Amino acid sequence: MKIRVGLGFDSHEFEEGKPLVLGGVKIDSPFGLKGHSDGDVILHAITDAILGAIGSEDIGEIFSDTDQRWRSASSEIFLKEALKRAKEKGYRVVNVDCVFIADKPKIAPYKRAIRENLSRLLGVEVDAVSIKGKRREGFAREEGAVCMCTVLLEREDEG
Ligand code: MG
Repeated sequence: MKIRVGLGFDSHEFEEGKPLVLGGVKIDSPFGLKGHSDGDVILHAITDAILGAIGSEDIGEIFSDTDQRWRSASSEIFLKEALKRAKEKGYRVVNVDCVFIADKPKIAPYKRAIRENLSRLLGVEVDAVSIKGKRREGFAREEGAVCMCTVLLEREDEG
């Protein structure tokens, strides 16, 4: 098959005093996201979408939260492993579309930087990366952040 689609979802609770990293970009914030790693929900959702697209184990199976190697780890490590697995199967990323859901922080001022960083990490043009910030408006509790994303992969040898 020439193309594959993947769906990713992640959520993390807020944690006071922890650095906040979204899409690999440091965000100015008094709180971060709780988690074994840096808690980057955007990179975790994209990583799982890529792994899902190639029929791999998911992010929690590959990077156990009881494994001390991943304690406070940069989530770029997880994304790079997913991209390596995709490449081994002959796939590259076509585009990524993400919805980031949280009442805080506002990611609008950081959207361009996040898209540019994801473009670099994924090896695609900036216009192949979308991040949409949404407020909860009655959906779930305001104690964390959620990210959902889809990714499209294509076989490198079929274009
Ligand atoms: Mg996560």
